[in-house]
Amino acid sequence: MARSRYPEVPRVCAQCGVHWTQCDGQPPRAYCTTTCRQEAEGRSACALPAEPEAPALPTRIHRIQAQLVTLTCAWCQTTAEVEHFPGPLPRFCSQDCRDEAQRAGAAARMRRLRQRRLQSIAAVPVAQIT
Ligand SMILES: [Zn+2]
Ligand SMILES: [Zn+2]
Repeated sequence: MARSRYPEVPRVCAQCGVHWTQCDGQPPRAYCTTTCRQEAEGRSACALPAEPEAPALPTRIHRIQAQLVTLTCAWCQTTAEVEHFPGPLPRFCSQDCRDEAQRAGAAARMRRLRQRRLQSIAAVPVAQIT
């Protein structure tokens, strides 16, 4: 019994988690072996092995998302689904219509005016016409 002068203190290694018994009468040690202590201390002392910096985020590409919008073409009066990019709403169903509308320009406006006038004439009660 001479050899076990020191109380046996059950411990759990803070590094490797091994259950071990400290019986050397020394101040409580947190690690089972010097190796574990060195490992633990080395880990806390040195910076962790160069941790890759936040994974390089892919350069954010600002992709313009086209939205499908349903519109009534201001030129051919067709209801169509067109891709709409951020900005003013398109007024024509196709590039052709836009071109024609622009080419016609004032003429189109005139036609619409005339149509409106025709409509107002048609709205006049027939009874008044003698
Ligand atoms: Zn250990
Ligand atoms: Zn159109």
